[in-house]
Amino acid sequence: MKLFSCGVCGSTVHFESIRCENCGTALGFAPDICDIAVFRADSGLAEDRLGGRWRRCVHNTPDEGCNWLVAEADGDPWCQSCRLNRVIPNLADPRHRDLWKRLEGEKRRFVYSALRLGLPITPKSRDRDGLAFDFLADGPGFSERVLTGHADGVITINIAEADPVERERMRQEMDEPYRTILGHFRHESGHYYWDRLVRDTALLEPCRALFGDERWDYGAALQAHYENGPPPDWGARFVSAYAACHPWEDWAESWSHYFHMVDTLETAFAYGMRLTPRTGLTGVLSVDAGIDPYETTDFDTLLAQWLPLTLALNSLSRSMGHAHAYPFTLPSPVIDKLRFVHQVIHGQVVRPAAAVA
Ligand SMILES: [Zn+2]
Ligand SMILES: [Zn+2]
Ligand SMILES: [Zn+2]
Repeated sequence: MKLFSCGVCGSTVHFESIRCENCGTALGFAPDICDIAVFRADSGLAEDRLGGRWRRCVHNTPDEGCNWLVAEADGDPWCQSCRLNRVIPNLADPRHRDLWKRLEGEKRRFVYSALRLGLPITPKSRDRDGLAFDFLADGPGFSERVLTGHADGVITINIAEADPVERERMRQEMDEPYRTILGHFRHESGHYYWDRLVRDTALLEPCRALFGDERWDYGAALQAHYENGPPPDWGARFVSAYAACHPWEDWAESWSHYFHMVDTLETAFAYGMRLTPRTGLTGVLSVDAGIDPYETTDFDTLLAQWLPLTLALNSLSRSMGHAHAYPFTLPSPVIDKLRFVHQVIHGQVVRPAAAVA
């Protein structure tokens, strides 16, 4: 994530800022240009650095808390993130308001990354190949449990995922090292973008060569995973135990890790982070985050920064008494999968010679 500056006084402001802490100017995030715009006067319109004008998303209320803006010429009342919603929770329940607000905050971080990577992110209400979100709560019966997942451009999120106690309970029940709301958005979007970018394209065969054949019975694969667990050697081939259950899940897990990598590297870049460990192993462990990872087309440049950065990040987390921030290792087959995701996003996949007719 970038750091931003107030267009009035130049102070540092953040992605979630609604007001400059220094000069008090009201702020909003202009998604089309991925920058913060300022409300200079009482006109109700914000202005960006190039003079573009913006109004507030209709979800910019204390309850909903969206700080994104809509271009003045755009007829949609919702911002680029809020307009993706198809079903929202029943707000008559005050707990739902709080959970939904947390989900939307993380969703804006996912949408930011999609915009920065130039991925298509049109609402399904406008384009049948577009994307939509359903935020649903469990009903009283077991059969009314909401499963977080993706189907045909609709990402369903169980709003209980926004409750930290419930999420931690599920994390332990599933024996996962990592479970976050943002991780869910990144993972489920992987399923959507596989349909959009891989399924009906020349990338399908190269994808199968790396991730396996996705025509395996998905339901049976999941059932086997939950009954028998992952193969004992999963750590040598997959980024997570869950990735081992089916090629679709391997893809979605790899996709979400690519987002973890690029967005965390952008934060390091924004802060100008340089790491030169005092152990003598500077070549292996040093980081000089001097590149914008969203704009970087060379995957190995990203990877060379990411591995040492995760070591430092994990050490800092442990120093604060937290678990590792990035509790994963990346064996070479996983690195090949991340490279493939990078190449798909950047349009760089080279088809194998046999497939080039
Ligand atoms: Zn300011
Ligand atoms: Zn909004
Ligand atoms: Zn999945």
